[in-house]
Amino acid sequence: MDRKGRMTRRNFIWTATAAAIPAGAPARLPVPVHRVMDARAQCPPERIHRFWWSIWPEAFRDFSRGGIELRTSDGPGEIRRSPGDNPVLIGLRRGVINLVLTDHIPMNWDSGRTLAGVTVLHQGYHVCMVALRYAHGNQIPFLSVNTCVHELLHALLQDIFVSRPKWHQSGGREFQVEWHATRLWLFHDGAAIRRSAQVYLDRLRSPVVA
Ligand SMILES: [Zn+2]
Repeated sequence: MDRKGRMTRRNFIWTATAAAIPAGAPARLPVPVHRVMDARAQCPPERIHRFWWSIWPEAFRDFSRGGIELRTSDGPGEIRRSPGDNPVLIGLRRGVINLVLTDHIPMNWDSGRTLAGVTVLHQGYHVCMVALRYAHGNQIPFLSVNTCVHELLHALLQDIFVSRPKWHQSGGREFQVEWHATRLWLFHDGAAIRRSAQVYLDRLRSPVVA
């Protein structure tokens, strides 16, 4: 309300928002994820099945329990590879996390490490790429967690803005990610992730960053 007791627009919005959230319920944070299946990936059907029926639902559930709602969209796309060159990614969108699913990470991004996933800013696009060949669900707390959760956390915890390979070489960021993923998985605690993700999402939406 202003001094004369009228409800201002800002107050109205604030009150309406507060009323919509039941007391005691943690606010849920929506995160836009655009899923792109690499049309050129040569994956056996059982590998694709394992991803969609086991790995992805587990990631979705872990985030959801921690108050983070993955809002997904799907679209066509592909990775055009050429020897020694940067891969060309088709089908990416701005202002969202592009979750690109392929069989194995392109050589340039992987450097022969047979990674299950990488997360990068690629020509202004936010990309989490997952190699279905090596992707897995939660296995060992603090050491081997769901590949999708791991890669999405590199974005939400803002590692994506730190130029590689700096944080890939230092074990510190990896441990942080595994630690937060384990808290999500076992204790459904996403408070710290939500705080960082809020800042991340502001930057994701801002065209200046690109
Ligand atoms: Zn990592």
